[in-house]
Amino acid sequence: MLGAMQDWDLVVTHLIDHAAREHGPREHVTHWADGTETRATWASVRSDALKMVQALQALGIRKGDRVATLAMNHSRHLVSWYGAVGAGGVLHTINPRLFDDQLEYIANHAEDRVLLYDAAFQPIVDKMREKWTTIEHYVCYDPPAGFAGLGFEDWIGAYDGDTSWVAVDERDPCMLCYTSGTTGHPKGVLYEHRSTMLHAMAGVQPNSFDFDARSVMLPVVPMFHAASWGLPWAGAITGVKFVYSAVNDPAVLCELLEREGVTHSAGVPTVWLAMFQHCDATGTPLPKLQQAIIGGSAAPRFMIERLMKNGSRVAHAWGMTETSPIGTVGAPTPDWDSLSFEEQVEIVTRQGRPVFGVELRTVDLDDWTKELPRDGKTAGALQIRGPWIIKRYFKADEDAVTADGWFDTGDVGILHPDGTLQLTDRTKDVIKSGGEWISSVELENAACGHPKVAEAAAIGIPHPKWDERPVLFVVKKAGQDVTADEIMEHLTPLVAKWWLPDAVEFVDEIPHTATGKISKKDLRARFGDYRLEA
Ligand code: AMP
Repeated sequence: MLGAMQDWDLVVTHLIDHAAREHGPREHVTHWADGTETRATWASVRSDALKMVQALQALGIRKGDRVATLAMNHSRHLVSWYGAVGAGGVLHTINPRLFDDQLEYIANHAEDRVLLYDAAFQPIVDKMREKWTTIEHYVCYDPPAGFAGLGFEDWIGAYDGDTSWVAVDERDPCMLCYTSGTTGHPKGVLYEHRSTMLHAMAGVQPNSFDFDARSVMLPVVPMFHAASWGLPWAGAITGVKFVYSAVNDPAVLCELLEREGVTHSAGVPTVWLAMFQHCDATGTPLPKLQQAIIGGSAAPRFMIERLMKNGSRVAHAWGMTETSPIGTVGAPTPDWDSLSFEEQVEIVTRQGRPVFGVELRTVDLDDWTKELPRDGKTAGALQIRGPWIIKRYFKADEDAVTADGWFDTGDVGILHPDGTLQLTDRTKDVIKSGGEWISSVELENAACGHPKVAEAAAIGIPHPKWDERPVLFVVKKAGQDVTADEIMEHLTPLVAKWWLPDAVEFVDEIPHTATGKISKKDLRARFGDYRLEA
């Protein structure tokens, strides 16, 4: 027997229909790379997206075709999210910071047919055009004067928007994002309408991004990184006012936060750090937010403290491209109001609790069939499952999940009895010494707390007796001098004695991946010959 309720497929065009109907006049502000600003509304985003559907159809784009973007955050980019999926297409957001061989690989692997891009990325387009074998049409969002190609506003401006969204099934794909993995080629994660809708509905909840109709969101997290954490979809649900900046200049961001009455913002820790530095250097007060969302890598304690002291709720979130990306988000615990400030900060340094829709478990790093207790002390390989978690990479032959349906995140974490997740490392980076595990991340964080240290990275180096021992690579802050002994002295009260590195080496820089994370792979390659004595 079937239930007797209406059919209403979970397709993402419902989001923009709802936003235009119920929150039509709500604004979208864009600060462009040249300093000019434009304003759009949820209603105009919808009507422009419908024009784009017609424009794509005139180019021969059909259901399932990939439409790529190479762009920063702005309202035209948002129009093309809804326009690409509204045409039945699959939106592929390309990260302009990827290396050339990765850019070549992913556009060809995705078989992108159209590319919409920012004028700032014209040099990338010029360089890659010959190598991109499937892209037939190029459209520039903000063409400079005298531009010979197709400009976005002219392109969609030739149509009246009098059309409807292409019918799709809720299990059809709507978006493709590649992970910039540290090994091998990038891998594509193919989100579907249903997974995206469920993820968006989870995103607005008080325990997640905490959106309502008064929320004003400035997403610093780029629209090309993990679907901008799903914000462009989730914001449509409550009619959030969006404030976009196509430049990541902290002076511009701080000014926009203040002037546009921003209540919510989201970014990786380096973004918040840059804002702190700007405010300190100029004497500008740090803008007060209702909610500061930090994710992508661990939010340092001093950052959490400073934002909380400034009156902002800090939502420390964990996720990955493969998880759409929301996995866990920090929100007040039931006993929150009775906790001291220090205790609250302690909780926020952890990566939050799973939102409804995802399940987490940790398994033993030596025996992956053994599930670990949620005891707040045992670290294990973190696995996740749920309706917006990857099952199989794009075009892969095999599923990316265990036989019982769990995706292995590659992260190492501790689950606490109250459900909070505390990430301690990556499974490839955790250091095994004498049969016990040492967290490279905790060593790095402890080292970074030294006032003269700019950055630190720990890797396991083969050791004749202990299997592996940690070695710490340190970049000094400009103009500062510090010795290995001073670093060891600083670390001693902070970590277990047997975790202390066997050596501290000073380097000019630590290698990073295209998304700005420390590349342990490159570090290991560079110091592959490093040996420790017994
Ligand atoms: P990406 O798919 O590029 O977004 O990278 C996802 C990875 O970033 C995760 O598997 C984690 O290793 C790391 N990550 C994301 N959020 C956090 C966080 N809050 N704390 C520590 N690491 C994080």
